[in-house]
Amino acid sequence: MTLKQEWLNTIEPDLKNVLRLFSLPDDFLSGCAWRLWEEEGAFFCRFEREGEAACLSAPVPAEGGDARTDELHGRRAARRLCRQTLYRLCRQVTGIHPPWGSLTGIRPTRLIYEQLEQGRTLEEAGAAVQAVFDVTAAKAELLCDLARVQMLLPPPGDEWMDIYIGIPFCPTRCAYCSFSSGEIGDGRLVEPYLDALRNELRAAAPLIAATGRRLRALYMGGGTPTSLSAEQLRRLLGEVMTLFPGAAEYTVEAGRPDSLTPEKLRAIRDAGVGRISINPQSMVDRTLQVIGRAHTAAQVEEAYPMARQVGFRHINMDVIAGLPGETLADFRQTMEAAKRLRPESLTVHTLAIKRSTRLHLENTPLPPAQTAAAMTEMGRETAKEMGLEPYYLYRQKYMAGNQENVGYALPGHACLYNVDIMEETTHILAFGAGGISKRIYPEEGRIGRAPNVSNIELYIARWKEMAERKEALFGGD
Ligand code: SF4
Repeated sequence: MTLKQEWLNTIEPDLKNVLRLFSLPDDFLSGCAWRLWEEEGAFFCRFEREGEAACLSAPVPAEGGDARTDELHGRRAARRLCRQTLYRLCRQVTGIHPPWGSLTGIRPTRLIYEQLEQGRTLEEAGAAVQAVFDVTAAKAELLCDLARVQMLLPPPGDEWMDIYIGIPFCPTRCAYCSFSSGEIGDGRLVEPYLDALRNELRAAAPLIAATGRRLRALYMGGGTPTSLSAEQLRRLLGEVMTLFPGAAEYTVEAGRPDSLTPEKLRAIRDAGVGRISINPQSMVDRTLQVIGRAHTAAQVEEAYPMARQVGFRHINMDVIAGLPGETLADFRQTMEAAKRLRPESLTVHTLAIKRSTRLHLENTPLPPAQTAAAMTEMGRETAKEMGLEPYYLYRQKYMAGNQENVGYALPGHACLYNVDIMEETTHILAFGAGGISKRIYPEEGRIGRAPNVSNIELYIARWKEMAERKEALFGGD
C-alpha cells in the first residue's frame, strides 16, 4: 500500500482535538513543522516545535481486502499515527497526562475488541491499549471490566435490528441540552406530531420482516416521552407494541420526574415496557435550578417509589458529573440518593458543553478538571458499592476533565440498546424528528445513515419522505 498525502486533507479537526486534551490553543498547530512519510513497510510521522520534537512509526497495514477496504485501513493507520505523534509532542511540552491518553474518539472499547480479534487475552488487550495510547491504568481497567460484561450479552449481528422512537418534547429546556427537542409549550404540535409518527411507524415497520431480520431492542427517547399525556402514551405504545412485538427489551425514557404521574407510568407498564429511566442529573436543588430542570430533588425521591408501586423492576438513573457550581460534596449528595433509591442501572455522565447549549453561550464557569475526575471516580465507587458493573462507555468532545460517560448495571440488567448504539454493531431503524437510522456494513468498516429532519414542523410535513429514506437505506436486501 502506498501512502497518500490526500488522506490528511481533512485531519486538522482531529489534530485540534488532540490539542484540546492539553488545553492548548488551535494556533499551537501553526507553530509546528510536521510531516508523514513511508519507509520500509512503515509509516513515520514527525512533529517539531521550538526545539521539541516527537517522531513515531507504525506498520503499514497488510493488504487483503478489496481496494476500498485496504485504502480505508491505510488511511486510518496514517491518521492515527499523526494524532499520536502530535499527542507525544504535546505531552512533552506540557507534562500533562490526560486520563484517556491520546484517544480522542468516542468509542474506546472498540480498541479492546481490535486487540481481542488479534488473538490477545482481555488482560493483554488492556495492557496494549494502555501502552499504545498512553491511557491510564484505571481507564484501561475500566475498559476491560466493561468488555467482560458486554461479552456475556446476546451477540449482535446482521440478523438483528433495533428501533428508536423519538418524542422531541420536554417540559422545559435544560441549559446543557444540545438535542433537537423543543419545549412542549401549549402542546399544539403534539397531536399532529403523533399522527405523523404513527404514519411513519406504519409505513416503515414492515422493513424488518422484509429484510429477513428480527427485532432486538426498542428504545423510546427524546426529549421526554412522558411529556405526553397518559392517554397519548397509551395510544402510542399500543400501536408500537402491535407493530414491533417480541423485542428482548423495551425502554421508555421517563426522564423528568416532574413529568410523571401514576397514570402515565401505568400506561407504559400496561403496554409491556420493562425498563424506564428516571433522571435526577443532580440531587442538589440549587444545581437543578441553574441547569433549568424545573424539578426538585424531592420530586425524584417521590418518583422512584411511585414507579416501583406501578410495578417497574428495572429503573435506570442518569446523573451528571461536573455540573456548574457543583463541589465534590454536592456530587456525594447525588450519589447518596442513588444508594437510597437503588436503581438497577446508573449512568454517570460527565458534562460536555456543546456550542449550541445555553451553558456555552452564557460562558458558565464549571468545576475544575480534577473535581470532574474525582466525581467520575466517586460514581464508579458508588456503582461498585451498589453491586453495579460497568457495561457501556462513550466519550464526547468538550467533556469536563476529559472524562467519559459510563453506564453501570446490576448483573443481567445491562441495556442492550445502549450497548448497540454505542458500539455501532446493530442496525437501527429510527423514527420521529431527529432520529438517525443506521445500517452497519461490518466487512467494510462503515455505516450507512438515513437521518430524519430534526425540526418538528418539517417532520410533520415530511414523514413520508423519512419512511422512504429508510427503505432506500435497507433496500436491496
Ligand atoms: S430532558 Fe433531555 S432532551 Fe429534554 S431538554 Fe433536558 S437534556 Fe434536552
